[in-house]
Amino acid sequence: MAGDPYAVPAVPQAPDGSVAPGAAGVPDKPPSTGADGDGGDTLVSITDLKVHFPITSGVIVQRKVGAVRAVDGLSFDVLRGETLGLVGESGCGKSTTGRAILQLEKLTAGQVFYEGADLARLHGGALRRQRRRMQMIFQDPYASLNSRMSLGHIVGEPLLVHNLRPRGEREDRVKELLNLVGINPNTINRYPHEFSGGQRQRIGIARALAVEPNFIVCDEPISALDVSIRAQIINLLQALQRSFGLTYLFIAHDLSVVRHISDRVAVMYLGRIVELAANHELYGEPFHPYTQALLSAVPIPDPLVEERRRPVVLAGDVPSPASPPSGCHFHTRCPAAQKGLCDVDDPVLREIRPGHFAACHLVSAADYPKIRSAEDRAAAAGTAAAGQTTPGGDAS
Ligand code: SF4
Repeated sequence: MAGDPYAVPAVPQAPDGSVAPGAAGVPDKPPSTGADGDGGDTLVSITDLKVHFPITSGVIVQRKVGAVRAVDGLSFDVLRGETLGLVGESGCGKSTTGRAILQLEKLTAGQVFYEGADLARLHGGALRRQRRRMQMIFQDPYASLNSRMSLGHIVGEPLLVHNLRPRGEREDRVKELLNLVGINPNTINRYPHEFSGGQRQRIGIARALAVEPNFIVCDEPISALDVSIRAQIINLLQALQRSFGLTYLFIAHDLSVVRHISDRVAVMYLGRIVELAANHELYGEPFHPYTQALLSAVPIPDPLVEERRRPVVLAGDVPSPASPPSGCHFHTRCPAAQKGLCDVDDPVLREIRPGHFAACHLVSAADYPKIRSAEDRAAAAGTAAAGQTTPGGDAS
């Protein structure tokens, strides 16, 4: 997996040179490497992406009475050859983000650049040509394959649609692809119901590879599979990435899997990115209280470490994306929230360390790792007064 984990550029500064939280003019995102998204090693560049689903009311005349803000202003780059993990709780907008990048969802606002081309401005053949290079592996291998089509048709269909191989060569190409993903090529005339979940996911991967993509959105590709075969699919994805130089956006809620496969990780909460960093940075020193809470729930296979850890328990449920809380969207559940600040001001995503971004008023490189609950802050103040060292983060 190539890609410098620190290659995300610095947040542009305000005219006075400051990057003060909430300051006007400071973007709430790690920006693209170029304004048009074609800079450096960036393969896909997302700028202020919003996907809102209208809520309507009325029987005869439907009126829009609100909107579900599934994705609410995301900006990030996916670097060529890397795996960018996208994590968060169910309903935080991960899958909608993946679908919007591939133009499978209508964008409410924002732009998606693929190799510098603004996909929203492309139509017909031009869009089809670009989308050929961007594929998706779906979560449910049972629903994502047409049960009435044989393997030959399922994997060969993209070749036909994009007119990639002469008719006489398509069957050989399908067999080659099946072989590549570990499916016996002689099963080309069989149907999806004759295969296990893991084999079906392999078939889905073969179909995605048929058009020789550069970029693949892996939308929870192993969460519907048995634990025993998850590792096989992960290993297959990694081997294919090495062989073909693929770039992945890997969407998952399993933080252990994301840690294993990703170069960088972005954490989403209520349609926004709250933290983005290189894998080892995010898991080693998570800045954002939400990330800390997520990581504190991941079991560690070491009883001694496990015993010392203090899980961060979040209060309440995830608020509705139809009416997100004011200020920091996380303030209703955050153990470190400060009244009058967090419930009023919306924190921007700032670069705290090179390549490590977080959206929290209380986070700064100097302060870390003191960002804890009010209780912890008091305890930390007590230990400091007693001349002791404040313990480091235990969320990893
Ligand atoms: Fe949001 Fe405040 Fe908690 Fe930071 S401390 S995550 S700004 S509520």
